[in-house]
Formats: sequence, structure tokens, C-alpha cells
Amino acid sequence: MLNFESVAMRYADGTQALGGVSLQVPVGQFCVVLGSSGAGKSTLLRMANGLVKPTQGTVQVEGVRIAADSLAHIRPRIGMIHQQFNLVLRSTVAENVLAGALPTMPTWRALLGLFTDEARRKACELVASVGLQEQHLLRRVSELSGGQQQRVGIARAFMLEPPLVLADEPVASLDPQTSHDVLSLLRRQARERGTTVLCSLHQIELACEFADRIVALRHGAVVFDGPPAAFDPRVFDAIYGRGDESVRSRGQGMRPETASPLHAAALELAQ
Ligand code: ADP
Repeated sequence: MLNFESVAMRYADGTQALGGVSLQVPVGQFCVVLGSSGAGKSTLLRMANGLVKPTQGTVQVEGVRIAADSLAHIRPRIGMIHQQFNLVLRSTVAENVLAGALPTMPTWRALLGLFTDEARRKACELVASVGLQEQHLLRRVSELSGGQQQRVGIARAFMLEPPLVLADEPVASLDPQTSHDVLSLLRRQARERGTTVLCSLHQIELACEFADRIVALRHGAVVFDGPPAAFDPRVFDAIYGRGDESVRSRGQGMRPETASPLHAAALELAQ
């Protein structure tokens, strides 16, 4: 579905954000890109929809190389979910979800907001499937909570039934319980449709709970690539550059059910 081949990115100011990353994401996988701030997660995700052009290497979506002349074909095949939701706050939930259909509409229809009946039906279905009530459809997004806004963001991302969804830190602005609910919802929507998801996160516990596969980045390089079950404190050290001992010592003296190395690692991160 998605193939990064030796991609590197050096920004104009000389920052090396990624250095030669290769990664193949198969159809239907929920792949989490894990790393601390500045590790290169956004840069990698933004390469997948052509927002960042690698200074080296290539990216393919469904076998099509991302380039200026292929973007119009590729973009409607990719749904985007953003950290800050990127919704139009003054518009209604329905209008925001319908906006997900804009990439395939003729410009004149888009400008006049002439959505087809089918698109309207689809938007209603999606709003229900992300757990919002019918009365939310005509409510302004600004009146919704953060968690509800991200549900609207997820509904919008699935409007064109894209085979690939990119979610860039989709729960970074949400509290832990809402983060959990929103990721459950995203995973369910993706599983029901066989959608491939590339999702960046910085929370290890969420990555381990929701990912089929974790690809961890540090300083623009892959330091772990495998299933959550293979994740251990040494991997944590590789990602966050912390001392093994400090992580272990935080695990000691905790209640047994919270004393896992993973939990200790997450605690360490939260400090
Ligand atoms: P993450 O998403 O993991 O926080 P990013 O991909 O946003 O990481 O950033 C990786 C590195 O690239 C960081 O050092 C960041 O400051 C830098 N960076 C990101 N965008 C730009 C940009 N437009 N210009 C210069 N440096 C950038």
C-alpha cells in the first residue's frame, strides 16, 4: 500500500529530519510511527501525501510514485487526520464532514457547495458511525468538545473511503480517556473497511495497545520495527535515549499490576 524507499529529508535550514528510511506498509495494517518530539514522524507522514518532498529517495502509494504529476490521482486516495483537527470551527459538523468529498468534485460544484445526495447520505452515516448524534449534524464545530471534534475529523477522513489514512498525532490534544476512545474508533473504522493506517504517536502505551506494528524513530532513523509484543525497555532506551536503570528503578515498588517495564517507561516519559 505504502512504500518509502530510502527517504531522507534535509530542510532548507540544514535540519536533517530523516536519514534514509525504508518502510513498506501492507494493505490493512495499523502501523504506528512512534517517537518523541522532533524524531521525524510528521516529516515521514507528510511525505506520504506529497506535502513534504524528500531530498532523497521515493514514496509510492498503491504502486504509484508520488510526484507533481501523480498527486491529483493519489490525494483523494488518502484520508488525513490532524493533531489540531483542522476543522472549520464556524461551520457545522455536516459541512466539515462533507468537505472530505471536495477533492473529487468539480471546482464549480465545490465552490457552490453542491454536494450530491449520495455524499450527504454518506456524511450522515459517518457521523453516526463515529458516535455522534443526529442533532450534532447541524451544530457548529466550535460548540463541540475536543474528542467530538476529532470524531468529526475521522468522519471527514473516511468520506471518500480512502484505502490509506494518515493520522498525525491524532490524540496529542486530548486527555487520556478521550485519546483511548478516539484511537479505538479510528482502529474500528479502519478494520471494518480494510483501510491501511499510518498513525504517529508519542505515547508508548497507546502504540502498544492499538498498533499491529510499531515503527519507532529517533533522530530521523528507525530504531525499532516490529509488533507491540516485541517491545521491551531496551527498545524504549533506543527511542528516548534514557538509561535502562532509571526506567527499571521506577518500576520497582509499584503495585504489581502497574510495575511492567512498559508502564514504568511510560511514567518516565510523562515526567
Ligand atoms: P516529529 O513529528 O517527530 O515531532 P518532525 O518531522 O516535525 O518531527 O521534525 C523533525 C525535525 O525536523 C525536527 O528537528 C524539526 O524541528 C525539523 N523540522 C520540521 N519541519 C521543519 C521545517 N519546515 N523547516 C526546518 N526544520 C523542520
